[in-house]
Amino acid sequence: MIRKIQVLADDVIAKIAAGEVVERPASVVKELIENSLDAGSDSVEIDLKDAGFALIRVADNGSGMTSEEVKLAVKRHATSKLSAIHDLETLLTFGFRGEALSSISSVSRFEITTRNADGEAVYMYLENGQVKEARPAARVPGTTIEVKDLFYNVPARKKFMKKDSTELAAVIDTVGRFIVANDGVEIRLRNNGREIFHAHKNMGIKARISLVLGRDVADGMIELFSLTGKYRVTGFVSRPSSTRKDKRMQMFFVNKRYIRSTFISNLLDEANRSMLERGRFPAGVLFIEVDPSMVDVNVHPAKLLVKFEDEDELKRSVMSSVRSAFDEVKNRERGSHGQTLSEALGSAVQAPGEEKHGIFAEGIATQREFEYGAADEMISDKKPLADIPRKTSDIYQIGKCYIVRVKGDSVTVTDQHAAHERVLYEYFNNKKRETAGETQNLLFPVSLGLSPSESILMGKMKGAYKTLGFEIDEFGRNSFVIRTAPQVIKDRDIEKVVRDILSDISGNIKPGMDPVEEMVKYAACRGAIKEGDALDEHEMADLLRQLSECELPFTCPHGRPTTLEITVDELEKRFRRK
Ligand code: ADP
Ligand code: MG
Repeated sequence: MIRKIQVLADDVIAKIAAGEVVERPASVVKELIENSLDAGSDSVEIDLKDAGFALIRVADNGSGMTSEEVKLAVKRHATSKLSAIHDLETLLTFGFRGEALSSISSVSRFEITTRNADGEAVYMYLENGQVKEARPAARVPGTTIEVKDLFYNVPARKKFMKKDSTELAAVIDTVGRFIVANDGVEIRLRNNGREIFHAHKNMGIKARISLVLGRDVADGMIELFSLTGKYRVTGFVSRPSSTRKDKRMQMFFVNKRYIRSTFISNLLDEANRSMLERGRFPAGVLFIEVDPSMVDVNVHPAKLLVKFEDEDELKRSVMSSVRSAFDEVKNRERGSHGQTLSEALGSAVQAPGEEKHGIFAEGIATQREFEYGAADEMISDKKPLADIPRKTSDIYQIGKCYIVRVKGDSVTVTDQHAAHERVLYEYFNNKKRETAGETQNLLFPVSLGLSPSESILMGKMKGAYKTLGFEIDEFGRNSFVIRTAPQVIKDRDIEKVVRDILSDISGNIKPGMDPVEEMVKYAACRGAIKEGDALDEHEMADLLRQLSECELPFTCPHGRPTTLEITVDELEKRFRRK
């Protein structure tokens, strides 16, 4: 059979090209907001229906377009932002490829109403990238774009779209980045009439971070800046005491443009190294300003990657700004009330749920910072102590990880984390079947200030949490309170456990999975005593007793052993007596 080579029709070409720019509702939102900002708007309103599949409307108060301009704007490679090719090098606006509007209009029903301050408003309607209607309209200066029925004419793409909630989360992430980087612009986002963000003009970057990453993250951050060098770095970074278990709370911007960068993320880790627990990461929002010719941002507009010309210099700026911010905080706390307050609060530090109540907050942060100690000498100070087993009747803890117990003619060694994980795993599984123990009312309900996407997930997972003994209520927008916790983990940092479970779930839950089932796995791990936690004799005795009551006491849920036994018989062999 002979196949004829065919020239693709224009609208087919446009649809293929659209795939590059328009992957999902979030990419449409990104392009439209960029255009609004490029047009000098100081107010941008985004309204969605059904996560953007039914409608994405972006209305701004920017420069608008004349009727001539708008006709051009929707054509491919039409842009007002590029006059000569050398402009590419120093470009400060977001877009310049002139592709967004034509791409979006080829995969949606596309309406635009715009008015330039000097002219009349015009309305245009496009289908398959073709203008179907154009007429005069009424509008204050600015532009409104409505994208309806996205991908209605590209069924293959539609089929591959994730659930609405996933797509909405992606839009929220996208809009959140613009909010954080554009304090001078009022930005508002709604979905099906429900307000998700409303950032007021000039409300302050920290207040914006609080909207986007959640109040808890923002409260735990300190400001940083570097003054010298080719790369000017400003922003906020978490105190060593309020780190996260993943990197989702990191955002980097170059000349206000959001980028992904493992290079910068690794620098943040490195600046924090001596202070971080293993597997935890700092939250950070960094703005890097640089002469545009020093950075290649347009490697691929959708991939958000950049190449820096002088990485060593950038490294110096980031490291020094982060470190001096930490030093300043430490000095301030030492100088004023630091040590005495933290000493006075010594016993309160362990109490779960008190972290955010009134005067305690500062003191506790101080205490933690001294514990993790930026200074290396502090760590070496502590070492000999950690090596001395704490003697009790017949139970010892060694290496802050193993419980050693002398029992008749043998010694048992129990891994405290593995053991507790087993205990909790069985406990939560029983809880699931409603055969297990009590839930404890927290003396002080713990409040959680979450980001909008975390809040959506929390709203969905509340039931599963409750099954396991955590009663969590919504308490105003993006705020929740934890009222109860399972008795077995009453001594743990409940807020951290709840948060860590939430972030485990958010990365791993797939449609069709049983949320409670999944949560049991994470809850057992997150709730368990960790390596490094000091335990007193009662806690150790309790743990061994609970372990002995388990159905499968000898392995943790991942199959590692919980306990090893060394008998006199074995000792004799090893000393070659036998
Ligand atoms: P690019 O942004 O790469 O130039 P677009 O397809 O996104 O390409 O937009 C094409 C042109 O339409 C822009 O260069 C700009 O002149 C105009 N335009 C788009 N959106 C707006 C807006 N919200 N306000 C004013 N002009 C706009
Ligand atoms: Mg654009």
